[in-house]
Amino acid sequence: MSKVLVIGAGGVGSVAVHKMAQLSEVFSSITLASRRISSCQKIADSVKQRFGVKIETAEVDADEVGQTVRLLEQVKPDLLVNLALPYQDLPLMDACLEAGVSYLDTANYEPKDEAKFEYRWQWEYQERFEKAGLMALLGSGFDPGVTNVFTAWLAKHHFDRMDTLDILDCNGGDHGHPFATNFNPEINIREVTAPTRHWEQGDWVESPALSSKQTFDFPEVGDRNMYLMYHEELESLVKHFPHIQRARFWMTFGDAYLTHLEVLQNVGLTSIEPIIYQGQEIIPLQFLKAVLPDPGGLGERTKGKTCIGNIISGEKDGAKVTKYLFNVCDHEACFREVGSQAVSYTTGVPAMIGAALILKGTWQGRGVFNMEQLDPDPFMDMLNQHGLPWEFRQLDAPLSF
Ligand code: NDP
Repeated sequence: MSKVLVIGAGGVGSVAVHKMAQLSEVFSSITLASRRISSCQKIADSVKQRFGVKIETAEVDADEVGQTVRLLEQVKPDLLVNLALPYQDLPLMDACLEAGVSYLDTANYEPKDEAKFEYRWQWEYQERFEKAGLMALLGSGFDPGVTNVFTAWLAKHHFDRMDTLDILDCNGGDHGHPFATNFNPEINIREVTAPTRHWEQGDWVESPALSSKQTFDFPEVGDRNMYLMYHEELESLVKHFPHIQRARFWMTFGDAYLTHLEVLQNVGLTSIEPIIYQGQEIIPLQFLKAVLPDPGGLGERTKGKTCIGNIISGEKDGAKVTKYLFNVCDHEACFREVGSQAVSYTTGVPAMIGAALILKGTWQGRGVFNMEQLDPDPFMDMLNQHGLPWEFRQLDAPLSF
């Protein structure tokens, strides 16, 4: 029986607390906090109506360490689940250290004024969490998150040596808008427009954003164009599985999405450099976010499925093998269960599972951990039990590209 404090009442926070409420034997008390208490209250009302569980709400600005520490001292949770934005990771880790509370997030730290994310900043907290006897679990979403656990599970059960890793992320859903992002547009567009990097023979190889394209036939979705992208789990996976020779991440984008993005980029609306507009400083990308459809409102209109998984080639018992491990998730089914689309669902469920495993003591440790450092088996079991069942296939040959 444990207390959890969730910070961030967006799409992912909403799914996470809806799922936690269905597991009351682990989450005996849930508090949801955000900058706007109205967002928390709306979610709390939905949880009460769907599952009859009352969750507490609170207001906090997670950029202010002192405010979070006061909230932690008041709520006294066993775990803080950070589902705010990547910019809040470090202040929330600082607050956890000050209040003596363990920590979990779904995305790695990114400075607000630089479109750059890497684990270095959070890995630097290793000694402080270790000394404090606390655990910080990084990236417990889908990708990163489940994709790290998939890699660890394949390494544990199906490979003696892994040579190549490809993570394939397909959103085959359609929300009916000419242009919208499925999660926070500021984060999404920064990610998509950044130069890409993949791991090859012990080094990072950089190429321009969206410059490498392939078509793949995704289970239950069909043929989709996917593009090579840099994604944060590559950094921790090649560190923890150093024998992997090539690691790549692919994401699908439709032609209409890319055409809109190109125009927005060409007119400067995706920039994070501040400009002065009518005497006021504004950041073009933040302005763009304000005029785009709210990702939280897409759930109701989104149809279709996501398919995210890992293809790994390597060796087992002297034979060359290629395995594909993936999850297919249906947007409309997610909306029926928790009132959110599959992109938030596939992130919020793993956040709940990571939190449950820490609170039950199944995943224990002192210091800062990436998902692949912990035993994948209990996490894989919980994915099957809590709405993200996985499928596993042996492929005849490695990817041809
Ligand atoms: P949203 O933008 O929908 O929600 C973010 C929430 O954080 C909002 O409720 C917002 O508050 C709150 N927030 C923002 N700043 C602060 C602050 N200073 N203090 C307190 N609360 C704040 O994001 P998502 O729900 O889509 O995503 C949540 C996280 O999950 C992000 O970090 C995202 O990068 C990550 N993610 C991870 C994925 C994965 O697979 N690993 C996939 C998708 C997302 P308010 O409404 O009160 O203003």
